[in-house]
Amino acid sequence: MTIRLAAPLQLDSIVDGEGLRAVIWTQGCPHNCLGCHNPSTHDYAGGYVEKIKNLKDEIINLKDHSGITFSGGDPFEQSEACYEIALLAHENNLNVWCYTGYTFESLLKLSEKNQGIKNFLNEIDVLIDGRFMIEFKSLEATFRGSTNQRIIDVPASLKTKKIVLIPKYKLEEKSKETLKTNIYI
Ligand code: SF4
Repeated sequence: MTIRLAAPLQLDSIVDGEGLRAVIWTQGCPHNCLGCHNPSTHDYAGGYVEKIKNLKDEIINLKDHSGITFSGGDPFEQSEACYEIALLAHENNLNVWCYTGYTFESLLKLSEKNQGIKNFLNEIDVLIDGRFMIEFKSLEATFRGSTNQRIIDVPASLKTKKIVLIPKYKLEEKSKETLKTNIYI
């Protein structure tokens, strides 16, 4: 199996989730968010094709990393390949975070008819969901670009069948007011 990537595996990131992370930059995105900071990752024919085995070898040999983060692009456009990688990460005691332009609700809907999406969703620990919305852009919202995006505990959400946000990243009412003053258009 192969995966289309926008860039090689990025090591030592501290801005794409908790702890030290290795980031998988997937290629291909349908969302076309206004103000996207990675427009070169949209083209489904862009980037380059990598063997999953090569990526897995790199992940197995990670040192001192807390986990891997899928970004892009939208990883759910290649959910079967991402599922394979996420599975391996968990087998190697690495946690799995994922950014997506889809909402959690829309992924649940899609997963009813798409086994790859269902499998991948089941291997994600933390999902940062929703399109980047420039009117809600914030430099202060942890690990996300705009305040409409949510940091979701996926196993708890799947278990309880309702969205469970990670408490420490919830935007408090007071913070929301503060964030409104930090919107850059
Ligand atoms: S989902 Fe992400 S990569 Fe895709 S257009 Fe939006 S910001 Fe850009």
